[in-house]
Amino acid sequence: MADQDRMLQIDLCGGQVRAMLCETTQTVQKCADIHETTPVCTAALGRLMTGTLMLGIMMKGENESVTVQLKGDGPMGTLVAVADHGRVRACADHPQVQLPLREDGKLDVGGAVGHTGRMSVIKDLGLKKNYIGQCELVNGEIAMDFANYFTVSEQKPSLVALGVLVSGNAVLKAGGLLIQPLPGCPDEIIDQLELRSPMFADISREMTFAPIEQLCEDWFRGMEPRILEKNDLEYRCTCSRERMERALISLGRKDLQSLIDEDQGAELVCHFCRTKYFFTTEELQAMADENGKN
Ligand SMILES: [Zn+2]
Repeated sequence: MADQDRMLQIDLCGGQVRAMLCETTQTVQKCADIHETTPVCTAALGRLMTGTLMLGIMMKGENESVTVQLKGDGPMGTLVAVADHGRVRACADHPQVQLPLREDGKLDVGGAVGHTGRMSVIKDLGLKKNYIGQCELVNGEIAMDFANYFTVSEQKPSLVALGVLVSGNAVLKAGGLLIQPLPGCPDEIIDQLELRSPMFADISREMTFAPIEQLCEDWFRGMEPRILEKNDLEYRCTCSRERMERALISLGRKDLQSLIDEDQGAELVCHFCRTKYFFTTEELQAMADENGKN
């Protein structure tokens, strides 16, 4: 039985460094099952979801959520992940892209996403306006792209490792690590962290040898690692019939009328979980009438 997906919130060196270390194996497996992804797309969506969950866990308010969108020039098209606290969902325009392995034998995530393009982080804080941070993709491999986002857009220099180990349709291990030295952190500590960074470069493979709690001890030995909080993580969609109905109503009377005239009702498929919602012509007519009153 696989371990429950979880995020460890950690501090190091008496609070001079904040870190997050997580396992997302089951979350990524569920995403792969829903979208029937190829290995390279499983890895791309898995890394994106893992990074997005780190942002999601940082958000404190009840109804807050964060969306990360990668718009690269690769064949996967646009990738989107949405996290609210420990729950995440994701989709891509083309989740079944196949690419040859890179020369070093690794999945070509950068090739699938694209090496140039844009990363957008949209934080919904439950206020009228969302916070939007944007930056250019560094290489489309996603970990570097998140590190660049934190450093440039949030002014928090960061080290990020994201990994998904896949065998065919099976996700063997997935997870990630984020390290953020706080302002005023001495150079010796930052040097120490950089020296240790090769240890967690291949994070999903390391996770096949030990649970993340043990890895935390091993990697940060001598740096007083303290686990402050542990959060459960899962893939979960938030769609519902009511939400789909609201989306249909927002089309406006004219588009609703053409759905009524041309089709025998309407079938909507959720992008994130592929659940199908069917609305009869009568239901659509009721929505159009409702819409006409506004
Ligand atoms: Zn859904």
